[in-house]
Amino acid sequence: MTARVIAIDGPAGSGKGTAARGVAEALGYAWVDTGAIYRTLALASGRQGIDWDDGEALGQLAAVLGIAFSWDGARLTVTLDGEDVSEAIRTPEMGHGASAVSRHRPVRAALLDLQRSLAADGGVVMDGRDIGTVVLPEADLKVYLVASVDERARRRADELRAKGDDVDTDAIREAIEARDTRDASRSVAPLKVARDAIVVDTTDVPPAEVVARLVGLARGDGVVGG
Ligand code: C5P
Repeated sequence: MTARVIAIDGPAGSGKGTAARGVAEALGYAWVDTGAIYRTLALASGRQGIDWDDGEALGQLAAVLGIAFSWDGARLTVTLDGEDVSEAIRTPEMGHGASAVSRHRPVRAALLDLQRSLAADGGVVMDGRDIGTVVLPEADLKVYLVASVDERARRRADELRAKGDDVDTDAIREAIEARDTRDASRSVAPLKVARDAIVVDTTDVPPAEVVARLVGLARGDGVVGG
């Protein structure tokens, strides 16, 4: 039987988003990008003047965050109180903000039910840092993606270049390493491999092949390719 609930975790730039999107498309499932939730909280709190160090205030905001996802099978739209923020949350600043707000226990507690409710009907691919370990420990398939830090920096640089931004790949690599360290060393829901997750290295693997491998795992075909 094909896995109905699929958890994909891994560090920044490991290819989670591309993989999760592709698997959701292939299986006709919903895609839930949980990083977008933390990014949206960073955006909303910034607008309200709430400090990214103020865990209590951020937790209260997270509990009433007016975020909604809509996935039309090809594009994921994220709205905050009805406003389309899909682009606004994709900046390096909001990536940094997401990492800052997500380390607070009240924030994670407030967002747990929301994330679980998004997976309650099954037919879902959810990607993040703690999906297999904390959010959906009963997921049918857990995948943990890895890639070398140089490769991850290169991917982020390409993304930013495509948007027309000036790019300093060394600075991007340093920012990724700092974010990895912070995500992996926090006391609550740190980035780590779930005991029953399958680790897939995407360093030299084209995205379509990663997707094919994951779809194969979801269908119970065993590991496709090498
Ligand atoms: O995946 P993305 O780069 O959008 O995530 C932004 C940040 O949100 C991560 O660096 C991490 O700190 C946080 N995050 C998290 N738990 C998740 C998803 C993202 O802590 N499930």
